[in-house]
Amino acid sequence: MGIQEENKKLEELDNKYIWHPFTQMKDWLEEKPIIISEGRGCFIKDIYGRWYLDGISSMWVTIFGHRKKEIDDAIKEQLDKVAHSTLLGLSNVPAIKLAEKLIQLVQKSFGQSQGSNPALSTNNPPIPPLEKGGKGGFEKEGKAEINNSSLLAHHSLLCKVFYSDNGSTAVEVALKMAFQYWKHKGVNGRNVFVSLNNAYHGDTIGAVSVGGVDIFHQAFGPLLFKTYKAPSPYCYRCELGKEYQDCKFACLDMMEELFRAHANEIAAMIIEPFIQAAGGMITSPPGYLKGVRELCTKYDILMIADEVATGFGRTGKMFACAHEDVLPDIMCLSKGITGGYMPLAVTLATDQIFNAFLGEFKDLKTFFHGHSYTGNPLACTAALACLDLFEREQILESLKVKIEILEAWLREVLKLKYVGDVRNAGMMAGVELVRDKKSKEPYDWSEKIGWQVAYHARDIGVFIRPLGNIIVIMPPLSISEQNLKRFLEIIKDSIVAITEQ
Ligand code: PMP
Repeated sequence: MGIQEENKKLEELDNKYIWHPFTQMKDWLEEKPIIISEGRGCFIKDIYGRWYLDGISSMWVTIFGHRKKEIDDAIKEQLDKVAHSTLLGLSNVPAIKLAEKLIQLVQKSFGQSQGSNPALSTNNPPIPPLEKGGKGGFEKEGKAEINNSSLLAHHSLLCKVFYSDNGSTAVEVALKMAFQYWKHKGVNGRNVFVSLNNAYHGDTIGAVSVGGVDIFHQAFGPLLFKTYKAPSPYCYRCELGKEYQDCKFACLDMMEELFRAHANEIAAMIIEPFIQAAGGMITSPPGYLKGVRELCTKYDILMIADEVATGFGRTGKMFACAHEDVLPDIMCLSKGITGGYMPLAVTLATDQIFNAFLGEFKDLKTFFHGHSYTGNPLACTAALACLDLFEREQILESLKVKIEILEAWLREVLKLKYVGDVRNAGMMAGVELVRDKKSKEPYDWSEKIGWQVAYHARDIGVFIRPLGNIIVIMPPLSISEQNLKRFLEIIKDSIVAITEQ
């Protein structure tokens, strides 16, 4: 069979057998699929030999691009030892080494040392957001008036690693852990979670229950458990009708009202720190995250930080929580953890939570949760190689200039006629397209304006995937400055071509 026939066959087989995720298959079947056969650095190649810049890091996971020698070699070496062995009743070498490394990393990233509680420190100034039209950052650092000394006593450190294999399961684990924690503590009635409007925490039923993106989640309404929803910190389209800066964190006030009224029912609040990613790259104003932490502490509610998208350097720091020195009680990580090589996730918990699960066998305090691929040795090996690379290649340091390039570009793009807002947290950025800049009237979602821009960029060799009207910028962190500039230039040209045609 010649190459052309072979490619045609692959297209037919894809259409015949594969049901693609988050995809209207009727549309898919009417289009020619792009089938990837190779990757190298920031680029992916289709079966016809066309190269595309991987502008979404293969669904936000590739940190170092494709075929990174050090990760390739580490996996090959591990393959000669063992590919898989379970953590149910056994342990394995890479899982142990990675757990130690992760806890060390978390402690280093938060400047943690035993006995201190940086989550409550007020020494660090808030990180100002991208300046837009002269707007600055909030000066306030949260609303809750709390007595730090009494809180210091019972806030403890993230020190246990529970493995699973994707972001949604990391969240499921966190929810079940938080729920059972209260039971084991002998506290009854803490059965409800608080999450934010526009939140996205994954696609399994628990994760969808705490989600807040109607277009993805509404259809499953009857299946979902009860949650309380706090306002999204979406300043551009404030759901409380307030203006950025004059609002004095009214969204945190609403959260506090919720906490005050229902504290005895609430097991935990879950949040994507710093940026609600899949909900539309919605960045929260400085001080907001710290304010949430303070409220959780004040009302004795566990805080779950879902760093599945933000973790591992995406926001310019290893973890987004570190921007405001916020220490969650539970933290979910996945995506970038293996540099996009293998499915792996972790849920980190404090010793306070872990200890509540200790008891006699007959007490049934065991955490009854575990997946077949939990702690997979190949995946843990990839993650170890990845963490080594962070240090060796000084990735976080190298991001500073790239973030400056991105932010300068965003400022330029904001001047375009049909760009309503631009937002970024480090190397995660969103450009919100609007039909009318003055009134902020959105494009109707059925117009697929984001997709039109994406298709235009694709024709010039850049692969991106929008979120409705929001153009998502999420290249591998290892992208060269030159490629980043070219990538951004193509996106800008595509926005202009589609919106101003
Ligand atoms: N949490 C967040 C913040 C996410 O962005 C995502 C995925 N985009 C998930 C959880 C779910 O991860 P996964 O797709 O690996 O299940």
